[in-house]
Amino acid sequence: MISSIPTAQEQLKFLKNVQLILQSGSFSSTYKFALLISLSRLAIEKGQDSGEGLALEYTEIAEKFIELYWKQAVPYTFNDEGQLILNQNNGKQAAIVNQIIELRQIYSSLGLLRRNSVVWSKLVKDVARTVKEMPVRYLQNINGQNFEFLYQFEQSKQQLTLLPQAMFCLRQFSEIIEELCQKRWIDYIRKNSSNAPILNKLPNLEQFMFEPTRNQLNAVANILVELQECKCFYCNKVMKKGNYAVDHFIPWSIYPSDTGHNFVLADSSCNSKKSNLLASNEFLHKWQERNEEHNLIIVDQISVLGFLTDKERSHKVAEWAYEQGKANNYLMWNG
Ligand SMILES: [Zn+2]
Repeated sequence: MISSIPTAQEQLKFLKNVQLILQSGSFSSTYKFALLISLSRLAIEKGQDSGEGLALEYTEIAEKFIELYWKQAVPYTFNDEGQLILNQNNGKQAAIVNQIIELRQIYSSLGLLRRNSVVWSKLVKDVARTVKEMPVRYLQNINGQNFEFLYQFEQSKQQLTLLPQAMFCLRQFSEIIEELCQKRWIDYIRKNSSNAPILNKLPNLEQFMFEPTRNQLNAVANILVELQECKCFYCNKVMKKGNYAVDHFIPWSIYPSDTGHNFVLADSSCNSKKSNLLASNEFLHKWQERNEEHNLIIVDQISVLGFLTDKERSHKVAEWAYEQGKANNYLMWNG
């Protein structure tokens, strides 16, 4: 069966359905936000701009969940009243978060946890089971009414297959979906009264929940300083100590998930000029070459800091971002 690219009208209908899901009040946990974000990221990392379906392993979706919740399961420490972790559920803490909290006490980073393949694969399997039984089963169910536009849920299948056209739409609207989901997720956390004690002490909830910490980025900078021989990735000038910043080669505003290969080090001037723009094709090639040449160092050293390091996936994300840039006339930065 040949599936064609969805028409403009079909694409709008898709967006409308995403909005319906997000507006529905029948959410007992934040799993649904995590699921939509995960599907949209996997459509980019594994898919292509065609009207075909896309088969995803439940374990792949589970890995995305773990990445999202790992960050949010950091205990927030109060001066004297002990610790609190954001509650991701209306009642008791969500099961996936509980498993992650337990492992966080043993493994200081996601990278270190991934290196223990026995513990890691057990966690992934457990999370995959919950993902299948809970959010995948209920995401497309609003007030008892089933409307399947992303996938058809089949209990007996080991894989989740995105419906024809869903992959295309997820890739097309990923930036909107990410932003909507993150906003709704933050709202959910705010409205959950059990989180009240922590909220007035966290100045920036969005940053806490979704963005990499300064500590992590400083550690990445230390690795890149050596890798780039202390020269700016963009202008190649020698950088003065402290006068540089870790740059997301594919801007965070376009793809808000960090992979080790996406980081480059730039002097303050280039970093602020590039801002949230895509760099020109010349830099794209330079970045791809850098990743080929230094793949082992990046995989070895940056993964320990907790970032996923998968060169192929990073390059797929870049391919998608530059396609989006071309199709939508994004402003490019020429250095
Ligand atoms: Zn520079």
